[in-house]
Amino acid sequence: MDANRLQHLPPVNEVLGTPAGRELLGRFRREFVVRAVREALQEAREALLAGGEAAPGPDELAAAAQARLSAIAGSGPRRVINATGVILHTGLGRAPMPAGWVRTGYCDVEIDRATGERGSRQDHLREPLRWLSGAEDALVVNNNAAATLLAVDTLARGGEVIVARGQLVEIGGSFRMPDVIEASGARLVEVGTTNKVRAQDYLRAATERTALILQVHPSNFRLVGFTEAPDTGELAQVAEELRVPLVYDVGSGCLFDTQSIAGLEAEEREPVVAEAVEAGADVVCFSGDKLLGGPQAGILVGKRGYIGAMARSPLARALRVDKMVLGALGHCLEAHLRCDEGGQPPAERLLRRDAERLRERAEALCAKVRAALPEARLSVEPGLAAPGSGSLPATGLPSWRVALSTDRPEAVARALREGEPGVFPLVREGAVLLDMRTVLDGEWEELAQALMNLARLRPG
Ligand SMILES: *Cc1c(COP(=O)(O)O)cnc(C)c1O
Repeated sequence: MDANRLQHLPPVNEVLGTPAGRELLGRFRREFVVRAVREALQEAREALLAGGEAAPGPDELAAAAQARLSAIAGSGPRRVINATGVILHTGLGRAPMPAGWVRTGYCDVEIDRATGERGSRQDHLREPLRWLSGAEDALVVNNNAAATLLAVDTLARGGEVIVARGQLVEIGGSFRMPDVIEASGARLVEVGTTNKVRAQDYLRAATERTALILQVHPSNFRLVGFTEAPDTGELAQVAEELRVPLVYDVGSGCLFDTQSIAGLEAEEREPVVAEAVEAGADVVCFSGDKLLGGPQAGILVGKRGYIGAMARSPLARALRVDKMVLGALGHCLEAHLRCDEGGQPPAERLLRRDAERLRERAEALCAKVRAALPEARLSVEPGLAAPGSGSLPATGLPSWRVALSTDRPEAVARALREGEPGVFPLVREGAVLLDMRTVLDGEWEELAQALMNLARLRPG
């Protein structure tokens, strides 16, 4: 190791004096520019000690510092194009949000306009949620896991919660129903077998400590074959007989009949919130960012007494939602109330897209890229898209894909993901696939451009 070579590295001040260094000092606080330069110098030093050849000059070091600071200052989730065909992709933020749903500036989140006194943030969405669900009252919290926790904690703390064994689901690897029940200080009482449970099982399991019956939609899998479980109406009767509330976690928060979606298997159907309320569930809870199509939130609707008790719980404060979420959720609910061009949140529109239109889009995209890149090996093929996030798990929605043949699909996919905006494709052996169902209106030009940019990567 030649220690002399380290001396060829410029001092911090020289790097700061370069054009890029001065640009950085005009944009970022001096302490952070100096830190970025020091880190760049340290990296260069380590590279030289590890046997690196040439010491970088001041301009190169300033550029390295610039890249470092820009990356840190530009942190946070960035917009990407979802070409996976999974509509509610948890890694990509589940339901897509339109720009117009985001509030800026001040807002009247917790104030009474008439009196100027402090109000309740829960007042804003009570009416639309009541109209859409048919329930008496509503409460919005951070997510559906929080909604379930709040319901069990408020209504069953210290008591017993009866759940069918086949409904003790795990969702997304971190949300397990038994853990949620335990976290809320209630005791779980399992009834039935994995595939069969009857109303009698619930009645037989009841004791004087029984506080709640919990029904859970097994959202991310489907039990087929020899199965039986009481429906919500029967469970409501059992709950009434035991004088305890029935809480139903429907998962996706679907407000429409999913049977109206083309390509859906006849026996597969998401529970509809209003139907669960109508059938007699005392409290129904669901996610805001699944089939409801809004921001991350957990929504509880149901009987006034139960919802009120949950709203007054000290836990409700810890689980409360932010004004931005309430604003976006308000827009989402408005979309569900409307029938004109403002109707249906984006996620539902993707679910209802016409496959033939997707084929046309795939062909147009192919033609455009081919015109610019005649050597690209592109083709259009049919495929199956998915609702995702555990909704309608057995459903494949007919879709169309642009397939890019390449002997390096992983490298091509990575280049697409790391572009700006990032494009998230599917990877198959020998090909990268772009599913058209989840590419939003207005993203087609950018997607074509991203494919054309791959020319630099020599797609072969
Ligand atoms: C998705 C899901 C949850 C968790 O909802 P989050 O909003 O992600 O917290 C809970 N229960 C069911 C049945 C679900 O499908």
